[in-house]
Amino acid sequence: MNEGLSTRCVHAGEIEDAHGSPHTPIYNTTTFKFPSTADLLDVVDGRKPGSLYTRYGLNPTIQALEAKLASLEGAELAWAFCSGMAAEAALFFAHGRAGIVCLGDAYGGTLELLGDQIRMLGTRTHLLLGSELDLAESRLADGCGLVFLETPTNPTLEVLDIRRIADMCHRHAAFLAVDNTFASPVNQSPLALGADFVVHSATKYLGGHSDITAGVLAGRKELLMPVWGWRKNLGSMIAPETAALLARSLRTLVVRVERQNRTAQVVAEAMARHAQVARVYFPGLPDFPGHELAKAQMQGYGGMLTIEIKGGGEAATRVADRLKLFALAPSLGGAESLVTQPCTTTHHGLPAEERARRGISDAMLRLSIGLEDAEDLIADLDQALG
Ligand code: PLP
Repeated sequence: MNEGLSTRCVHAGEIEDAHGSPHTPIYNTTTFKFPSTADLLDVVDGRKPGSLYTRYGLNPTIQALEAKLASLEGAELAWAFCSGMAAEAALFFAHGRAGIVCLGDAYGGTLELLGDQIRMLGTRTHLLLGSELDLAESRLADGCGLVFLETPTNPTLEVLDIRRIADMCHRHAAFLAVDNTFASPVNQSPLALGADFVVHSATKYLGGHSDITAGVLAGRKELLMPVWGWRKNLGSMIAPETAALLARSLRTLVVRVERQNRTAQVVAEAMARHAQVARVYFPGLPDFPGHELAKAQMQGYGGMLTIEIKGGGEAATRVADRLKLFALAPSLGGAESLVTQPCTTTHHGLPAEERARRGISDAMLRLSIGLEDAEDLIADLDQALG
């Protein structure tokens, strides 16, 4: 744990096999055999560590991945899931039953899960703005047990103060979960800032190549253990092949994200000077409202930025359709740069009034900066804006 992040990305959690493989092999099996019933019961009853059944997560490939993920987030334990939404759902079922506050913008699917399905089960959920901390505190005083937030947020890149919000939660014996998908462990360590859980859509930067769907939940052992049964019995386990692909991607995480940070900064600065761009949302710009807080709580500003196009929603759609290098696709964090218009994709499911309340305009285009050359990305934006 004293080793640097890049070293841990490469080495943490890897198991050494009898053949000298430099990294963990794929144990593509659903079950594992035992020499005797006594040995089997030792693992079933938790007296000894071991492999048992892949859906339980008791599979060496998955466990090696989880050890790496825990190390990267500075967590006691990390659990892998078949998607980011599966990780969120298991967290909400296990720790959200007394009520959940979602602070600030979040991924549209998160808002839908909290606003629709979780409410159908009778759980109170409150979808508040990032500025509504007083309201959040009174919900905690009413007994809500979990606050969930993203920072920087999706798609306005609002930066929320993790330490301050964690203190507020803990004053009311509640927990704070931070979706660290946008920042990745390279740019932000929510647990070190006082959060109780870190959530990831590993589909994004952790996977990094737009070719796997996976999720992560990390935190203290005493808080992860109550999630165990939900993951196991909802059947939301990652597959061993996907776990191996994710572990492979994590070995290059620092290299990729540092490059994406640098390119996003250059693209954001170019867009801030562009005559057809009304506004740029990026924590790395000195005049961005969240800049000082981002500087204090993040190690890098990330590869995501949002631009607001002059001329409104239709003009933004035209720009999105004219981009050639940026693919029009609703995800982020991969090697290829992507563009989305939040009102048509990530936040399409929200009523227009709710989008407006959250400051999400039709003229916004969210850019996920990939690994291409910054000059080529700027040239593509120039021709599309032109
Ligand atoms: N959190 C964030 C910030 C996301 O952007 C997404 C998906 O876009 C999710 C969670 C859900 O992740 P997944 O698609 O892996 O279920």
